[in-house]
Amino acid sequence: MSAEQIVVAGAGLAGLRTVEELRAAGYQGTLTLIGAENRPPYDRPPLSKQLMAGTVDDTSLRPELDSLDVTLRLGERAAGLDDGVLHTDGEDYSFDHLVIATGARPVALPGPGRQRFLRTADDALELRAKLRPGTRLVIIGAGWIGAELATAAAARSCQVTVVEAAATPLAGALGTEIGAATIPWYEEADIELRLGTAVESVEEGGLRLAGGDWLPADEIVTAVGVRPDVGWLAASPVRIENGVAVDEYLRSSVPGVCAVGDCAAFWSRRFGRRLRTEHWDGALRAPAVLAANLTGGSERYDPVPYFWSEQFGRMVQYVGHHAGASELIWRGDPASPKWAACWLAGDRLLAVLTVDLPKDLMQGRRLIESGAQVDAGKLGDQAVPLRAAAC
Ligand SMILES: Cc1cc2nc3c(=O)[nH]c(=O)nc-3n(C[C@H](O)[C@H](O)[C@H](O)COP(=O)(O)OP(=O)(O)OC[C@H]3O[C@@H](n4cnc5c(N)ncnc54)[C@H](O)[C@@H]3O)c2cc1C
Repeated sequence: MSAEQIVVAGAGLAGLRTVEELRAAGYQGTLTLIGAENRPPYDRPPLSKQLMAGTVDDTSLRPELDSLDVTLRLGERAAGLDDGVLHTDGEDYSFDHLVIATGARPVALPGPGRQRFLRTADDALELRAKLRPGTRLVIIGAGWIGAELATAAAARSCQVTVVEAAATPLAGALGTEIGAATIPWYEEADIELRLGTAVESVEEGGLRLAGGDWLPADEIVTAVGVRPDVGWLAASPVRIENGVAVDEYLRSSVPGVCAVGDCAAFWSRRFGRRLRTEHWDGALRAPAVLAANLTGGSERYDPVPYFWSEQFGRMVQYVGHHAGASELIWRGDPASPKWAACWLAGDRLLAVLTVDLPKDLMQGRRLIESGAQVDAGKLGDQAVPLRAAAC
């Protein structure tokens, strides 16, 4: 009998962790890891932080792939799927199990001008070389990546303008009430923040704004979000619902095909909805569950999602999922250096955002995990430890 074959499409964090966890779980069949980029797996969070600041050049995860007995195929792109066979732009691979870990890719805006993105190591290295003192950098989008890049570019003495269509930064991720609390951070860093400003098109040398205004730029970075990189599955029977739709066990609609990381939209029993997170922590942890399931186990993947961002000298952390919240409770004054916010549905804590309050983050995570009833009055009192809000 020939050895079992597992093929992993996508050699980012989720793909790498999958092969590591499979071997750790005792999988002894063949393993093939296929990545579209010409680099071995690397970490993305430092690209907009330490790499952009110039303190590191290489964020490689330095995988011990030799010791894992993995065939690594770089510069090869998965292109389609048939019964038990993955097609790439190079070869075809038979599989018993296919793990889809192709991540996400940035959304582009209309227009003929050059727009840069910040997703890959190549993007980051090329962009960093352009960030010289006085460079007029225009960032489209005041989301997580936009804020981190603005922080780094301002520190490199660029002239930074951030253009945002919504009324506040982070409006899509956290809502305008929280987003408004971050507006002063841009002012402090001497960054021009143009809110409620939609971009009509990206042109050579600048942006045409809705309404006709012209915003000149030496470099333009579009940071308006990402979409799951699953276009290559369009002709396959794999069900797509804002990413590869997977169940609690990370299985897709096609037997033998699973998905993890930014491209996977998993069913969360905890939150009663399908979730697709774009969080490093998910790409790190989901593969252990998947590996257990591919080696005979039956584990549910149902995390309390966690994300962090380092912006304007602050550590911003978020845990949970606040869709469906009925109340937002401030914990501390958002004009002060350290504060938090809690989202509730009735008397249950759904999510916590903290600014330079790691203890609150940890305690909030435990409260959400436990599903305990909480006292809203205590949550809102910074003098009371968050864990003491449990009823
Ligand atoms: C600049 C930046 C900063 C970030 N900072 C934070 C942070 O501070 N905190 C946080 O929680 N998260 C952060 N993230 C998000 C985090 O990095 C992602 O959630 C994580 O990388 C997801 O891992 P992944 O393996 O699922 O996807 P990816 O990292 O996107 O890896 C997928 C890989 O698959 C490859 N691929 C795509 N299509 C194909 C194909 N058809 N065939 C083969 N290969 C393919 C891609 O080239 C890529 O290498 C950041 C992301 C970026 C870009």
